[in-house]
Amino acid sequence: MKENILGVQISPLNYEQLISSLLKDIDEKRKAFIVAINPEKIMKAQEDEQLKELLNKATYQIPDGIGVILASRLKGGNIHSRVTGIDLMLKICEAAAKHHKKVFLYGAKPGIAEKAKEELIKQFPGLNIVGVLHGYEKDIDIIRHTINEAKPDIIFVALGSPRQEYWILENMNTLYPMIFQGVGGSFDVISGNLKRAPESVQKLGLEWLYRLIKEPWRWKRQLELPKFLLRVLKR
Ligand code: UDP
Repeated sequence: MKENILGVQISPLNYEQLISSLLKDIDEKRKAFIVAINPEKIMKAQEDEQLKELLNKATYQIPDGIGVILASRLKGGNIHSRVTGIDLMLKICEAAAKHHKKVFLYGAKPGIAEKAKEELIKQFPGLNIVGVLHGYEKDIDIIRHTINEAKPDIIFVALGSPRQEYWILENMNTLYPMIFQGVGGSFDVISGNLKRAPESVQKLGLEWLYRLIKEPWRWKRQLELPKFLLRVLKR
């Protein structure tokens, strides 16, 4: 059962459970939409009813961000471990290579998705990436045509949040793929254009601190975390 944090539904599934559920969705031809939830998005949704509805329309709301885990703990909930957008994406690619599912990469600056494709194929030999398209193409007919011609089972959409989520909801029913995941800046990371925190830092749940040091302009966004936890406590 999903958990409700300040009106936003969160899926309790871990990586393994998600992968087997997604493979079933593909085989049984059920459209699925994955959105990563962090405190910042939950806080935004408090003032934006349309965004809240959008997040709740996703099939799987994954608990990205340590703040969501802390909130669940404060409420005595059942979500114990993070599922990050990028790690889920990598696990989906691994499963796609193994089960012969086709993948499409849509988004980021021109050239980035191609580089991410090369890196992914190195990491998961046999992975079938049937197409890529950068995120600055404006003509929706070209976008639709490029994706549908390639006939992917899975599409990763990297347009930033919440743009990518609105895009997915608006287009998923007329597009070929079954699985749609919004992945934010993941192509930039996979292609090597943006560095992620070292694994030890990630394990400590301190990725936010690393990002604060690397991208200090994010501090305002991060101030939301204590506000968010207070709000959860008050509920
Ligand atoms: N982006 C895009 N098209 C646009 C605007 C942004 O493809 O019109 C891409 C941008 O190049 C970057 C990603 O979307 O790769 C945004 O990542 P960001 O880290 O800002 O998103 P977040 O992870 O915060 O959702």
